[in-house]
Amino acid sequence: MPTLLWYRRDLRVTDLPALSAALADDSEVLGCFVLDPRLEAAVGRRRLQFLGECLRRLHEDLDGRLLISRGRPQDRIPQIANEISATSVHISEDFAPFGRRRDEQVRAALGQIPLVATGSPYLVSPGRVVKDDGTPYRVFTPYFRRWREHGWRRPADSRPTSARWIDPDGLSGKAAAPVQIPDFGGQAAFPAGEAAALRHWKEFVDDGLGRYDDERDLPARDGGSRMSAYLKFGNIHPRTMAVDLGSEQPGGGSYLRQLAFRDFYAAVLHHWPRSAWHNWNRDFDAIETDTGAHARHMFELWKVGQTGFPLVDAGMRELRATGLMHNRVRMITASFLVKDLHLPWQWGARWFMDQLIDGDPANNQHGWQWCAGTGTDAAPYFRVFNPTLQGRKFDPDGDYVRRWVPELAGVRDAHLVRAARPPGYPEPIVDHGQERLEALRRYQQISG
Ligand code: FAD
Repeated sequence: MPTLLWYRRDLRVTDLPALSAALADDSEVLGCFVLDPRLEAAVGRRRLQFLGECLRRLHEDLDGRLLISRGRPQDRIPQIANEISATSVHISEDFAPFGRRRDEQVRAALGQIPLVATGSPYLVSPGRVVKDDGTPYRVFTPYFRRWREHGWRRPADSRPTSARWIDPDGLSGKAAAPVQIPDFGGQAAFPAGEAAALRHWKEFVDDGLGRYDDERDLPARDGGSRMSAYLKFGNIHPRTMAVDLGSEQPGGGSYLRQLAFRDFYAAVLHHWPRSAWHNWNRDFDAIETDTGAHARHMFELWKVGQTGFPLVDAGMRELRATGLMHNRVRMITASFLVKDLHLPWQWGARWFMDQLIDGDPANNQHGWQWCAGTGTDAAPYFRVFNPTLQGRKFDPDGDYVRRWVPELAGVRDAHLVRAARPPGYPEPIVDHGQERLEALRRYQQISG
């Protein structure tokens, strides 16, 4: 009997438990993806480009047998399931607020046909690691300890050849409303899809992981793995990666810790869905932020990397040029927006979501809330990053700044501690010392 495999953010074939489940009883499987116009309108252009490329690669991996349909999933999925007389519809579980609502609507619309969730994009799915009293963790370190004890399964044994894929061309086509994979314009910044993800991961394990501990905080060295977009779209499962991460191996332990952060933030968002756009710590609801015309002007300067603070400008320009930004620089640019410019963190988080290829509500919004001091386990509000000192510490030779800020390309002291500001490069838009005191004043007002 046929089954339907509804792809979402798990765009691969290997190590895909939902595919293994769809194949039970030796079923024929139709793989499909539904383009939801609401998401097409809301998601940033770069993420759409990357999604388009992921779909093209998956289509090839399925020998051209991926059905792409457009419409509301609660309409399309039941129509497609009925058209092939599917006995069940299989998914990887989505824990983000939008995905959960959507899946409940689809489940209701499917009626008698079960919507079966098997596996998720995480090593340990949200909701699995909780305190002894059943409540969710609010602090990462004890979560991490329990997360390690909990552990995870070995990679699922699914492969392209595991399934007899139903050819969507053989369907009548009316109900399924097949469409071409859209060209969202422009080129994806780097190769998408499962094969690219596996290749990139192998290269990192062979020549990168050993240096991860020493170099991950140095933006000029690009010491991160750059796996975030592949993880976001499920081109690879973190379980496949964890096989290569022994704790004795240099870099292995700290890399696994980052994957645990990913699971932690997904769990936090799952338990507190409101924290997607509101302060997780409601004590901060009363903090004063600037939102008037001057604040908007400052925001525009931040977006285009014209703040006069070299590391902040380099990061913001890297983001606009590539759709990615180094983790340390994300922290510094976010801190600058909140504590030097006193703008609402949500403004910055929206801009990041618009630009980032790896934009993910759990990681992004909770990364922002960490920097803003409003999140779980957050950096204490009174710890205000000094963008110049951070630049000297993490980009000591100035190479990262020179790469992204051409006005400073010829300046040796790229953080402008002693060097004169070259013509064409802006004066600092704020006085960091003063704004630090202003941030502390605002914080004291709410902390009594
Ligand atoms: P690596 O250092 O190689 O880390 C490996 C993987 O671990 C990453 O690919 C990512 O999946 C995960 N990871 C690493 N750091 C974190 C973290 N702090 N929180 C959660 N997961 C982490 N990450 C996103 O994937 N999407 C986002 O939208 C996002 N927005 C962020 C916004 C801010 C303000 C901050 C401070 C961080 C944000 N991060 C986000 C986390 C982190 O910056 C990126 O995951 C990382 O820069 C991706 O590069 P990499 O793959 O080389 O990371």
